[in-house]
Amino acid sequence: MPELPEVEVIRRELEPLLKGKVFAEPALHMPSTIGHPNPDLFTASLPGRIIKNINRTGKYLMIKLDRGILTVHLRMTGNLLYVENSAFEKRFLRVSLPFIDCSALHYLDMRRFGRLWLTETEAELKEMVLKRIGPDILNDLCLEDFLELLSRRQRGRIKALLLDQGFAAGLGNIYTDECLYRSGIDPNRRVQDLKESEAEKLYQSILGVLDDGIKYGGTTFRDYRNARGALGDFQNRLAVYGRKDELCHCGAFIAKTKVAGRGTYYCPRCQK
Ligand SMILES: [Zn+2]
Repeated sequence: MPELPEVEVIRRELEPLLKGKVFAEPALHMPSTIGHPNPDLFTASLPGRIIKNINRTGKYLMIKLDRGILTVHLRMTGNLLYVENSAFEKRFLRVSLPFIDCSALHYLDMRRFGRLWLTETEAELKEMVLKRIGPDILNDLCLEDFLELLSRRQRGRIKALLLDQGFAAGLGNIYTDECLYRSGIDPNRRVQDLKESEAEKLYQSILGVLDDGIKYGGTTFRDYRNARGALGDFQNRLAVYGRKDELCHCGAFIAKTKVAGRGTYYCPRCQK
């Protein structure tokens, strides 16, 4: 499942390619991909709109237009693929967004959970799409705010809190395990038991791990591809995720358990 770094890699690749592009008429191969009661309105409204820039909050990609905002969430297996020639066809193509210059942005999705929304204003975007989404954990949360939010959410386990997109947006199962490993915190720890020094280290670890994930092009396990169809490389640099029974640098074996209903990897010696 794409997390913040994978979506950010796509954002950085797409922005220079798409800036100034003018939409032609979209083709909805699976209309339920559009997060509106009336997908025909999406098809009718998009042509002629111009791409200004691309932003991101958590795992949501917001393509700002001269009028309105086109938002994409890839969910489990979604991909956005830029192609020079819109005649290009591929399996799992759900929505095709051609431009008037014959290039196109394709939305592909094996498992069909991803969504696209067209909203006219920031207020509508907030109401319709981002209602329960917290601040972006990489760009919109300083250490002070992070500690403040943490102090208000003392109940429960730290891993569950980090996965909660209403607390802060961007982390999923893979990067959460990596962040907790880098900060030396057991994923089962209760939030209320974290010392301030641990919370600070966690914050710095989150920024560091996400930056590394972006730097290495994201993590590819099954379906993730960047906007040019290439694989990420961070899967080869993961310290704990997916490495059960392999050796940690400390000499202990990495363990797997279940926290917050999710498979969780950690080092029993390094993480307290
Ligand atoms: Zn270790």
